[in-house]
Amino acid sequence: MTSPLRAPGGFPVVGIIGGGQLARMCQPPAVALSITLSVLAESADASAALVVPSSPVGDHADVDAVLAFARECDVVTFDHEQVPGKVLAALEKEGVILHPSRAALVFAQDKLAMRRRLTDIGVACPAWAQVRDAASLQAFGDEVGWPVVVKTPRGGYDGKGVRVVGSPREVADWLTEVARDSGRDSHGSGLLADGLLAEERVDFVRELAVLIARSPSGQAAAWPVVETVQTGGICTQVLAPAPDLDAGLAAVATEAGLRVAGELGVVGVMAVEMFEVRDLRTGDPAYLVNELAMRPHNSGHWSIDGAVTSQFEQHLRAVLDLPLGDTSPRAPWTVMSNVLGGDFPQLYPTYRHLLARDPGLKIHLYGKSVRPGRKIGHVNVSGADLDDLRVRAVHATDFLQGVITQ
Ligand code: ADP
Repeated sequence: MTSPLRAPGGFPVVGIIGGGQLARMCQPPAVALSITLSVLAESADASAALVVPSSPVGDHADVDAVLAFARECDVVTFDHEQVPGKVLAALEKEGVILHPSRAALVFAQDKLAMRRRLTDIGVACPAWAQVRDAASLQAFGDEVGWPVVVKTPRGGYDGKGVRVVGSPREVADWLTEVARDSGRDSHGSGLLADGLLAEERVDFVRELAVLIARSPSGQAAAWPVVETVQTGGICTQVLAPAPDLDAGLAAVATEAGLRVAGELGVVGVMAVEMFEVRDLRTGDPAYLVNELAMRPHNSGHWSIDGAVTSQFEQHLRAVLDLPLGDTSPRAPWTVMSNVLGGDFPQLYPTYRHLLARDPGLKIHLYGKSVRPGRKIGHVNVSGADLDDLRVRAVHATDFLQGVITQ
């Protein structure tokens, strides 16, 4: 395939479906690697469209638009996991190289499929059940103990589609949708056709994430396990590496991540979100997998400044089957703090002030309009004193969010 986008020297074109901040953050390493990016963007002012010259606007659910886009690319990957199965099938039928493939991606799109598969390959998960009505949810809750966590299998993000419930009544609206969708196509119009995922509520010590990259030829690499701090269902801070993590647990969790990537045939970057728990019998530290993301992930944003190879560079290397880069940290600690949209839309004055106040900060903003609660950027800060780094990261994000004024 000859693409007008290709740079001289035979360097390839990587297509990314979706023009969000993840696609945007692939652009600096793409420049450094001499690779051309092309992004299928939601709109001309999408986060990535502002920095990637080839950003045709198109709908990721429109088969013809996605096919036309993909024909100009050597390999196609994703900014998000919302591309419908029928679009992925059409791409694969045309011979488009998709990474991750449709067969792998389904385990990041569908939490029920993910739970089933991880259980089959012996990866530790919370106790779970597929429930279609109040009676089956009641039976599950009576077995594992109330409250339980109920999730919509598809389409959830940032805690939407997750409820902690004390009785089936608290998901009566979802159960009505399950009954309505029953018999419909769960990959298309009937989002809840397969029912709901019910899980025991895990009494976790903290949340961890394992970040893996895997290439088509099977090379794999892992970054150090990180701690993710959630506030109101949204990840607000990441500590890399996870402080005081038991070395045995770090090894077992990383091995589980690598095994999942290999068994599922994942190509590219994958984040495995986990709960750190205590084994009920022995009291030893252990993990339970929460969910999978098959793309660069918020838990890996620290790697832009904190690791020899960032997750964005590694994702490009992996989908092109280039040798993977070194994942070693550049500093003892890196703290990443998410910037959520606050009350004041003029960020630039605050941004200037912060650069002057703390020259060690690396502030990454995504070119998004400011809406309260929306992830509009993140701050990375690396060094040897974790407590100091946390204070500086929180100060910077509070200031950018307008929570404090100096
Ligand atoms: P999303 O797809 O919206 O990210 P998750 O499945 O990751 O949803 O859940 C969001 C948050 O809800 C998790 O980060 C965790 O804090 C909490 N949570 C999810 N599942 C459980 C569970 N089984 N037990 C306890 N807390 C949970």
